[in-house]
Amino acid sequence: MAGDPWGRETRHDLITCPHCGHELNASTHVNGADAPGPGMVSVCIYCAGVSVFGDGLELRPPTWLEAVECSLDPGVQRCVAAVLEALHDAHGGAS
Ligand SMILES: [Zn+2]
Repeated sequence: MAGDPWGRETRHDLITCPHCGHELNASTHVNGADAPGPGMVSVCIYCAGVSVFGDGLELRPPTWLEAVECSLDPGVQRCVAAVLEALHDAHGGAS
């Protein structure tokens, strides 16, 4: 739908967030990609942690260089901000 910040969603095998340990079975693409691929960045919907897809599409923490690149990427920043906002709303923190 127009104005929806999220792109299309892909279901996949369970992968574990390296930050919070939650298992994820789907990825939503915010940069026009069709599916997750090695080296692509993932933002965890449970903790807003930034991870990178490995060669086997497992999630791993970013290297320090990748972390710097992510911190400078407006698309990643928007995604992290959107997840943090959703988490805040979900926990009834609006005031
Ligand atoms: Zn997480």
